[in-house]
Amino acid sequence: MTVFLYTIIVLGAISFSAGVFLAFAAKKFEVKEDPLVKEVTAALPGANCGACGFPGCEGFAKEIIKGAAKADGCVPGRKSGVPEKIKAILENRPK
Ligand code: SF4
Repeated sequence: MTVFLYTIIVLGAISFSAGVFLAFAAKKFEVKEDPLVKEVTAALPGANCGACGFPGCEGFAKEIIKGAAKADGCVPGRKSGVPEKIKAILENRPK
């Protein structure tokens, strides 16, 4: 019975320590993303076709935010007003 109790205590301590470490690591190494990326990504068609020359819609949105891509770079979204939506988002972004 004593061995069983020690096993439970040791495994509990290891599990708790691992949980604390993982919570700390998740906070410490958290990647903070610009909320504009989500906003611009939501304005895109979401086809992830790569016709813009970037790896998917989120990749294109990140390059738009950086200024490395033009708002009309999304080929499938040109006729549905995506460039205008992107320009409106960028004009209204906090300075
Ligand atoms: S061209 Fe448009 S739909 Fe295709 S991956 Fe790029 S942003 Fe997404």
